[in-house]
Amino acid sequence: MKQEDCIFCKIASGEMNSITILENSEFKVMLDRFPATRGHVLIIPKEHVESIFEMEPEKAGRLFQLATQIAQVMKKELDMEGMNVLQNNGSCAGQTVFHFHLHLIPRYKEDEVTFKWKATEPTEEELLMIGNRIAAAL
Ligand code: 5GP
Ligand code: ZN
Repeated sequence: MKQEDCIFCKIASGEMNSITILENSEFKVMLDRFPATRGHVLIIPKEHVESIFEMEPEKAGRLFQLATQIAQVMKKELDMEGMNVLQNNGSCAGQTVFHFHLHLIPRYKEDEVTFKWKATEPTEEELLMIGNRIAAAL
């Protein structure tokens, strides 16, 4: 369902402009309006889904298939060194637009992008407990 105040719903329906690279019945691939680097691409589902927590896994599979295809073409066409594939969920994780989107961020030698965290050092026992808890719930 389209959400009235969602900018990506407006882009998906064509009510708002975007530089569109590809579009099919389910997804839109477009340039980020405020790119982290040259050629920063966003892939969005046309149907409003807020985040990965509401996303249908099969649909996410098709989205990632598209992402892989686009990434390989971008690698050939743009003079990039590498790429980050990023997807933020929840404001604490940096999500600012609450309509699912996957970032394809080309990386260049002297770019200003940083993704940094401080590694923690859980015990083997803590790791095992967390692993078991997730595995048991699947
Ligand atoms: P988030 O921080 O939610 O993961 O990413 C939201 C992204 O949407 C940002 O990279 C931002 O630049 C991009 N963005 C925000 N408004 C617009 C817009 O109107 N059009 C497009 N194409 N991208 C937008
Ligand atoms: Zn939306």
